Amino acid sequence: MGAPRFVADVMLGRLARWLRLVGCDVLYDRLGEDSALLARALLEGRILLTRDVALAKRAGENGYFVKTEGFRAQFAEIVRSFGIAPDFKSEFCPECGGRTVEVSRESVEGGVPEYTLQTHEAFRRCPNCGKIYWEGSHRRLAAAELEKILSCKNEDRSNT
Ligand SMILES: [Zn+2]
Repeated sequence: MGAPRFVADVMLGRLARWLRLVGCDVLYDRLGEDSALLARALLEGRILLTRDVALAKRAGENGYFVKTEGFRAQFAEIVRSFGIAPDFKSEFCPECGGRTVEVSRESVEGGVPEYTLQTHEAFRRCPNCGKIYWEGSHRRLAAAELEKILSCKNEDRSNT
């Protein structure tokens, strides 16, 4: 069991970011070629998310053709299709998909705004790209946005 892991094709950068924000392990390489993405998916048992029907077919059981357009609709589609339970304590870096680690408050001094430093206790850093995160506004915004996306998608579906 456990949440599905994904590889997103080059068209799906924003979707990849959103999925990471809710706790999904998503590989995304904006220069990635189809065959390389496919190989990664098969090798690591990931689902290849793609807007390319032929590529989804090639990936077989590891492929998923993303039917909707626009990252909001796509995000809602994937959350629903895979029954993803959003986890806002996600350890994945939304920027690059690296696994963030907890770091001390002292160690982020100078790397975050002074106000943030004074008002937060817990910080995480991505060892991959160096980004620093804290329990703050952007995650709350993401949660609110997610709720909006999922609830309005509900209304849209009434006629399907
Ligand atoms: Zn990162």
